[in-house]
Amino acid sequence: MVAAMESFHVSTRRRTDFVDITRQVEAAVSELGLREGVVTVFIPHTTAGITINEHADPDVMADVEAVLERLVPWRGDYAHAEGNAAAHVKASLLGSSARVLVSDGQLRLGTWQGIFLCEFDGPRTRTVWVSA
Ligand code: ZN
Repeated sequence: MVAAMESFHVSTRRRTDFVDITRQVEAAVSELGLREGVVTVFIPHTTAGITINEHADPDVMADVEAVLERLVPWRGDYAHAEGNAAAHVKASLLGSSARVLVSDGQLRLGTWQGIFLCEFDGPRTRTVWVSA
């Protein structure tokens, strides 16, 4: 029996923060009982995202952060009155979900790939949903 959905929480530490959640997603896949198929990792927030990228060298995500900051500076000519428009824009640029193949109960990620929760308006506690 494959359960419908698992979830877990992540506490971010800074306004912009990329947290490697690969291990938590693996644990969720195990809890789901999924052996073969595809898993969707989804974040139900409007100022955070999900992406897959290199998790061997932390400089990679530091570069991603720097480029996003240049493209979408925190202070700008935004309409959204809450004051966190840049976080919403960055969340849309990176997206709210990722899909990963599962084979023999394991995530099929490339050697250097990890799954990241992308925080753009932290620090906060975020929820991640994982569904088969
Ligand atoms: Zn807002």
